[in-house]
Amino acid sequence: MYNEKLYREYANEFWVRLNEVFLQKPTDCNYLPIVFERKPDDKKYKYINGFTKTHVNTRTQLSSLFPVVFIDDESCDKLKETIRHEIIHYYLGLHYKHYQDDTALFWVLCDLFEGGAYIELSERNENIFKTAIPYIKRLYNHYDKCEEKSSVTIHLGVILTAVDDAETNLEKNISGFKNIFEYCCKKCGC
Ligand SMILES: [Zn+2]
Repeated sequence: MYNEKLYREYANEFWVRLNEVFLQKPTDCNYLPIVFERKPDDKKYKYINGFTKTHVNTRTQLSSLFPVVFIDDESCDKLKETIRHEIIHYYLGLHYKHYQDDTALFWVLCDLFEGGAYIELSERNENIFKTAIPYIKRLYNHYDKCEEKSSVTIHLGVILTAVDDAETNLEKNISGFKNIFEYCCKKCGC
């Protein structure tokens, strides 16, 4: 028997951490609408452990997102990985253009938080991912050690926005983004 309360607590802790590191936002106005469900008894869900639901209001056209995690006979570690995976989709879906499985932006956060990205990237996206990851890791590792957290948060945000931008503007050269990443690390002294 799974303990939903425990997993919900784990999900909330991870959500708080993401919001602190990347936004420095108080989390009381930042509710995580995660849904835990029993995995449907249907072949099409056999290899799916969760998904991020997009709902569009047909009248207002406003869209909303929420992560869904299937509770199955998975191990505790696998379930926690699925929770992180879906929350990363959700977080990026709220703030950025690229949040899907095959985006460099998704791979970047999955790399930092062991979110289990598994869909292969295109050559360009892989290049963006590989270029960004050493810098974002340096900044992220610096976050807990340094006093000036707001500066690290701002520059982490700049890097994520630049990755999003690199994926949107296919004509832009990746080396230009590398300069931005270098600048961000330099600014934070790491
Ligand atoms: Zn996914």
